[in-house]
Amino acid sequence: MAHARGVLEVLGEGEDLSEGERQAGELLTQVADQDVKIDEEGRFHLRHGVTKDRVISVTDLEMRHGRKSKHRCFDGYKFHVSEDPETEPITGVAMGWASEHDAESLPQMVDDDTEVVIGDGVYGTADMRAKMDAEGIQVVAPQRPAGRKGMFTKADFRIDLNQATCRCPAGATASPAYRRKDGALKGFRFSRADCERCDLKVQCTRSPYRIVNLHSQEKHLLTAREFQGTEDFRALYRLRPTVERKIAEMVRHGMRRARYMGMRRGDLQALFTAAVVNLKRNHVPDSHRSPPGGPVAGPRGGVAEGTRIVTPKAGRVTPLCGLR
Ligand code: SF4
Repeated sequence: MAHARGVLEVLGEGEDLSEGERQAGELLTQVADQDVKIDEEGRFHLRHGVTKDRVISVTDLEMRHGRKSKHRCFDGYKFHVSEDPETEPITGVAMGWASEHDAESLPQMVDDDTEVVIGDGVYGTADMRAKMDAEGIQVVAPQRPAGRKGMFTKADFRIDLNQATCRCPAGATASPAYRRKDGALKGFRFSRADCERCDLKVQCTRSPYRIVNLHSQEKHLLTAREFQGTEDFRALYRLRPTVERKIAEMVRHGMRRARYMGMRRGDLQALFTAAVVNLKRNHVPDSHRSPPGGPVAGPRGGVAEGTRIVTPKAGRVTPLCGLR
């Protein structure tokens, strides 16, 4: 760290730095500051947590730490794919930061004709549902119950945003207790008296009373939660797994490893790979094609014939030769 700061001081005093020297100085500053901070007395301390967009390679500046799950980490990029689940061509492909949430890629995976997106739970964030809804696109994605295992989740409460009421599994009703600055509902609080004499309290809360917080886009979550219980949702969601096969096929053609450095070239690799997979698909006789997802109950799960549906999915890409 002392050497890095010494170099930065020399660079800072130098005049007429070339573009390369200036960029090298900026990179050294970023790398020197992202893990270590210096206090007023000149002592170095490790930073807590991971700096956002932490640079992990000095030769491939767009590579990042990423996670596939809570326990599975990787370094590199993500590639995003979307396909038409019924005829199965890849309709969109892009490379992205390994550190970004999968849902953030969704705007790149849809086009002006897209009407329905069928994705797994990661694509069902409230903000992304609201964003897609504003563009006239329905997101069909399951909501994962949040909260402690075995305890009541928000889905167990009947929330009526129009009436501003919330009814709990024991039948008690709460009125809004919290509002945002703009007056929108932020949460409900059940009365201490109701909760203290409730037989279900052990499944509900360890506090003297239960609070139910609302997301600023709660109406989209409520609509999605309601739709999730219908046969139409199940019929549509059965179309989603076909995109998993597409990811597996792209991986068989080398997409698990980044052949090039940088996102732009990675985009090209993803495009070439997708083109190969689509060409192969076009030459498979109909008799050899696997059926999409499974049987769809009803008329396409309540979606009209000709509706443009896409299913997105992300895969991980790691560098060909490890970290450089
Ligand atoms: S603890 Fe309170 S909020 Fe929870 S079920 Fe009982 S009365 Fe309802």
